[in-house]
Amino acid sequence: MHHFHYKDGRLHCEDVSLDAIADEVGTPVYVYSSATLRRHARVIATAFEGMDCLIAYSVKANGNLGVLKTLAAEGCGADVVSGGELLRARKAGIPASKIVFSGVGKTRAEMRLALEEGIHQFNVESAAEVEVLSEVASALGQTAEVAVRVNPDVAAGGHPNISTGKAGDKFGVPWDDAETLYARIARLEGVEAVGVDVHIGSQIDVIAPMRAAFERVVSLVKRLREQGNDIRRIDLGGGLGIPYRTWDNPPPPDEYAAMIREVTEGLGVQVILEPGRVIAGNAGVLVTEALFTKPSPKRTFLIVDAGMNDLMRPALYQAHHDILPLRERPDSADQISYDVVGPICESTDKFAAERNLPVIQSGDRLAFMSAGAYGAVLSSQYNARPLAAEVLVDGDRYAIVRRRPTFDEMVALEATPDWLT
Ligand SMILES: *Cc1c(COP(=O)(O)O)cnc(C)c1O
Repeated sequence: MHHFHYKDGRLHCEDVSLDAIADEVGTPVYVYSSATLRRHARVIATAFEGMDCLIAYSVKANGNLGVLKTLAAEGCGADVVSGGELLRARKAGIPASKIVFSGVGKTRAEMRLALEEGIHQFNVESAAEVEVLSEVASALGQTAEVAVRVNPDVAAGGHPNISTGKAGDKFGVPWDDAETLYARIARLEGVEAVGVDVHIGSQIDVIAPMRAAFERVVSLVKRLREQGNDIRRIDLGGGLGIPYRTWDNPPPPDEYAAMIREVTEGLGVQVILEPGRVIAGNAGVLVTEALFTKPSPKRTFLIVDAGMNDLMRPALYQAHHDILPLRERPDSADQISYDVVGPICESTDKFAAERNLPVIQSGDRLAFMSAGAYGAVLSSQYNARPLAAEVLVDGDRYAIVRRRPTFDEMVALEATPDWLT
């Protein structure tokens, strides 16, 4: 479900024509729909109504402050994986009491920052991390509330690069080591085990592996309680998939919620969820302009002004994004099979291979759909290209929520060594 549709022959985000935005802001530009962000946050909140549940939006999916403020107003908390994301969440007005800190490699400085802010929970991923957190918290005279992220050895996720819950993945504590680590935590100062955490992957399009992982978590909670740990939260991570193609059919949030209700029935825990993609993915598009077409003996290349530095998902995960022209074409329009590529000097700078699209002329604009999650956040200035602008739409109004940097800004952090002046 999203709010991008044709109106009077032009692709709109809510009530704003994407052409109007591109005319003012230029391309490439990310455009986000507030209505879609709110809708997704509400659908999830409604599905879990009546449960003690914290929806901690995964900031790494899209950390734009406009997006975060929109979600903060819906009551979302945040799942952060760095000090920078923590500061973003706080700046957007998300209370520290709704922030959980995940990630395999937190630095002492990041731990200190999170303790000073007073976050809800640290999701810890190794014995070594727990030892350091214990030291840092003790030095501040604090006790960090922690959940151990366990690796349930369950395969899931839309692509090997986004599967995180198998025994060979770097994430989480090996299943068989978890209880020993909880025993260790119980003996340490400055840390208290309050929960169990799991996150098995992303773009998961079936319920079964999630259920299997969550059932393992519940069994662990029971064993840990028998061993005297006061486990009062479970964090089930994110990972729910979204439709990238019209025929994709990921489980709807209410089915996901029903499964979680069933699995956690009677356990008496706060359930923490870390949805990212399912909230932001279909709430954004990347608008680009066609530069040239280039016929070659085997293919017709459509070269656009967005590159893999702007939208890395196809290069990184062979991800599919639907491509829609901003000017609606009749279904009967002639189609050509294009390889849609960007200007970057890398062969992986390809958005789509052999994609049937209506005939595109230079100057035509296109939208890469479902680019709201893991889009702008993964962008870089590779090839000295400025970061794409980001625009947030709300009904019939829109605002630039990140402008394109100027050349001077792009080089502002660099300095000339004195021997070169
Ligand atoms: C990436 C990530 C998420 C969000 O995953 P989605 O698939 O976007 O829902 C949640 N928790 C952790 C620990 C993550 O690394």
